[in-house]
Amino acid sequence: MSVIKKKFWDDVTSLWSLIVGLKVTGKNFVDKNVTLHYPRETVTSGQLEGFRGPLELIGKPKDPAKPKCIACMMCVTACPSKCITVVKAKAPKPTEAELQAMKEAEERGEKVNKPKAPKEPAKFLYDFSLCSLCGSCVENCPANALRYSSNVYLTVTDRKELKMDLLARLGAQAEAAVAAKAVESPKDVEAATTEKEAGTES
Ligand code: SF4
Ligand code: SF4
Repeated sequence: MSVIKKKFWDDVTSLWSLIVGLKVTGKNFVDKNVTLHYPRETVTSGQLEGFRGPLELIGKPKDPAKPKCIACMMCVTACPSKCITVVKAKAPKPTEAELQAMKEAEERGEKVNKPKAPKEPAKFLYDFSLCSLCGSCVENCPANALRYSSNVYLTVTDRKELKMDLLARLGAQAEAAVAAKAVESPKDVEAATTEKEAGTES
């Protein structure tokens, strides 16, 4: 290839990459802004698509204050940054009468069913200051009990505030949801509370 031809093709290639670059710049220039003038503007739910806020537990559909978590420890093992601490719930302590009944059954040679620990966490702590939001815990949870929150406005003045009690957070969220529903439709909440109380008593 002659020197002139090579120079010509070099110029064409450079011009083409300039056009491609300008196209990208132009597209982003006319696209809608993705940044907001907070606090004059606030984030809408549509703008939260794909946003990863600090983790939160997902509640059971019938009892939103209780987590779907089965305390399997998969998230603890999967987390590369050791942000999660889960303490399994212990088996309920048998009463004196139950202990006596078990002892007597053992003496009779009968099979004794000792109280089992419920498959739920007694504590679920999360340190957001260490979390890289990599998603390993969410992806490995067999009970789909974890998700990212949409807490875009989280600010703290002390690093300790980033250590979160996710069970307490879930309880507070469930209470807030009931309070919000009570404002919208007080009769529905009253009926649901009565139904739940009746279920607890039976
Ligand atoms: S998102 Fe990643 S770093 Fe954060 S708690 Fe889950 S596994 Fe750990
Ligand atoms: S959140 Fe999921 S992975 Fe973690 S302990 Fe609970 S059930 Fe297991």
